Amino acid sequence: MARRKKIYEGKAKILYEGPQPGTLVQYFKDDATAFNAEKKATIEGKGVLNNRLSEFFMTGLNQIGVPTHFIERINMREQLIRAVEIIPLEVIVRNYAAGSMAKRLGMEEGQQLPRPIIEFSYKDDALGDPLVPEEYIIAFGWASQQDLDDIVALALRVNDFMAGVMYGVGIKLIDFKIEIGRIYDGDFMRLVVADEISPDSCRLWDIKTGQKLDKDVFRRDLGNLTDAYTEVARRLGVMPANVTNTKPTLIN
Ligand code: UDP
Repeated sequence: MARRKKIYEGKAKILYEGPQPGTLVQYFKDDATAFNAEKKATIEGKGVLNNRLSEFFMTGLNQIGVPTHFIERINMREQLIRAVEIIPLEVIVRNYAAGSMAKRLGMEEGQQLPRPIIEFSYKDDALGDPLVPEEYIIAFGWASQQDLDDIVALALRVNDFMAGVMYGVGIKLIDFKIEIGRIYDGDFMRLVVADEISPDSCRLWDIKTGQKLDKDVFRRDLGNLTDAYTEVARRLGVMPANVTNTKPTLIN
């Protein structure tokens, strides 16, 4: 690790210089934060699970023709990705009311929405990622109207894929957040799904019991977060052999 140049360190991941130009190595930490980093913890095994789960979702998206930054998983905690220019927006897709939407509108969590609803937050921790209308996004030049149309189309495809995959293993996709990056090929610019897709950035409820299998377990102190993420990985058949014991072990 020390040999690689660190490019950026966020709350849950670190980006290192990649082996080829235009690539980065994305390292998944065990750190969890909530409520704009007011609540923090280290949860052993979370990074390993999210690396695997994000690999699973991004690979599936690539295969159905939804472009992502994902190239390949390198090891338990690292994956090779395309370097992108991140659009400073959190793109949130909601199928059922929950979290900030339920609070803002006084809705009951779990109420089905008439159709998927997409909203945008401006990525700025100091401001607490405020919700922004499209008008702001275009006026401030974070994305053009054409970009936004493309982002909405991408987000809806990710939603259909994720909702379908989850439905297949008895899980309801309540909502999720994605980030979008730009890749330049000469004069040509493409938008791709970037960052991660994992239970850190989705709300996932068991269809039968309503049990929460996502980061709300940590946010709301509902139990063991690793157990919840392990259950998602197990159902999807991507359960890593050994989640917690990722430190080097001495062999005699
Ligand atoms: N989300 C995220 N990162 C954020 C904010 C939200 O991944 O910084 C995800 C969150 O896990 C949920 C969805 O986006 O799946 C909608 O979150 P919401 O706006 O309800 O915010 P919250 O209640 O999590 O503050």
